[in-house]
Amino acid sequence: MVHEQSARHFQKSKQYLASGVSSTLRLSMKPMPVFAAGGSGATVTDMDGNRYIDYLLAYGPLILGHAHPGLTAAVCEAAAKGATYGLQHQGEMELAQRLTEALPCADKVALSGSGTEAVMLALRLARAYTGKTKIIRFEGHYHGWADTIFTSFPSPDMQQSASGLQGRNTAGASSAAAGSSAKPGTSGQSAAALADIIVLPWNDVAALEETLRRHHGEIAAVISEPVMCNSGCIAPHPGYLQRMRELTAELGVVMILDEVITGFRLGLGGAHGRFGLLPDLVTVGKALGGGFAVSAVGGKDAIMELIADGTVNHLGTLNGNGVATAAGIATIRELAEGEGAAFVRMERLTERLVRGIRERLAACGMQGVVNQLGPVFHMMFTAESVVESFAAFGNRDAERYARFAELMLEEGVMLRPTGLWYVSAAHEEADIEATLQAMDRALARLAPT
Ligand code: PMP
Repeated sequence: MVHEQSARHFQKSKQYLASGVSSTLRLSMKPMPVFAAGGSGATVTDMDGNRYIDYLLAYGPLILGHAHPGLTAAVCEAAAKGATYGLQHQGEMELAQRLTEALPCADKVALSGSGTEAVMLALRLARAYTGKTKIIRFEGHYHGWADTIFTSFPSPDMQQSASGLQGRNTAGASSAAAGSSAKPGTSGQSAAALADIIVLPWNDVAALEETLRRHHGEIAAVISEPVMCNSGCIAPHPGYLQRMRELTAELGVVMILDEVITGFRLGLGGAHGRFGLLPDLVTVGKALGGGFAVSAVGGKDAIMELIADGTVNHLGTLNGNGVATAAGIATIRELAEGEGAAFVRMERLTERLVRGIRERLAACGMQGVVNQLGPVFHMMFTAESVVESFAAFGNRDAERYARFAELMLEEGVMLRPTGLWYVSAAHEEADIEATLQAMDRALARLAPT
């Protein structure tokens, strides 16, 4: 497969665009960041004319696939009427209404443009509501790149046992609470901004309960992905999120579920709808806009009221703009069609794909794990028989997977180099079959372990 145009454009981009890409993560694609020329349904085409079945799906948002006709028409119509006004408009109201109807925990919503912004607002609301400042977050979760929450984690295989809380307190940690202190995720980040962040192992009820009981007087919120999609697509242990709900409710701590990946992917009501949970606040983004920049915080009236009464500032020039809201409305409309039939179909196809992957790994004697929930899964090469913790996730062979993704690219399948796959409503049975055939060829070329 030729990547001449991608290579040429990447070189040229670097002359003008810092690093040649617009999000650092995109540099991880091998043999180079591919330059897209267009996309349609489940396929994306690059500037060399290569076509790929797409499971990167723009890192999650393209739940309807590329250039979905209904979504494209809605967005074009909105743009033609004036993309944004800085005034209220009907689309904003309609999207908010649809969101409150779809998300069980949302009496009201506030709109923003990215997952990062939605998380920033949720944290601010939690602090204003409780009058407390500390935030509990978890190892391996990602909540955007804002200074106040972006952290790096030591390699999980170097971590101490999950419940060894006392041993985890790092010298100089500003928090009196148990748990490890947060390490900045990037150079240039204000370390002070992380002073109020406490990091705990996820899926560990004892660690959570101990920290909350001992320090709830300082803790404003617990923020968690409902499924640890960003590190291995690890599901919550039975009862874990329910216990988080009970403890936070009992101790006056706001529970935030960050559903930027799971929202409008695990169902119209997100993971909390699927699991029958009522967090105090939820953040959604990615799939909500089907590829356009829209995100939201939803929550119970008592907290959202803080925006209404002027206690909390919620700002943003392009918040709720006409194009973004049209995209959100059209995406929800499509996903709601036939009582959510798209979710059932996506899940069935994903299960078929995952079954095929597991069969192939077993057939060629390669050790691997695939963790799946709905139309999202993580595939990894690992000697672990199950991956249910961040520590176990750390034992995967990331290099081997990156090589596999490169071989799949050669075979016409676009994958995220780190192992997370998304399936869209535009994927069909034939795409799954073609993908599995491509995998047969790629695995045959992958060096044996
Ligand atoms: N929260 C979660 C759970 C995410 O996965 C992401 C993005 N991967 C974000 C927040 C940040 O969203 P965005 O990239 O739109 O700022």
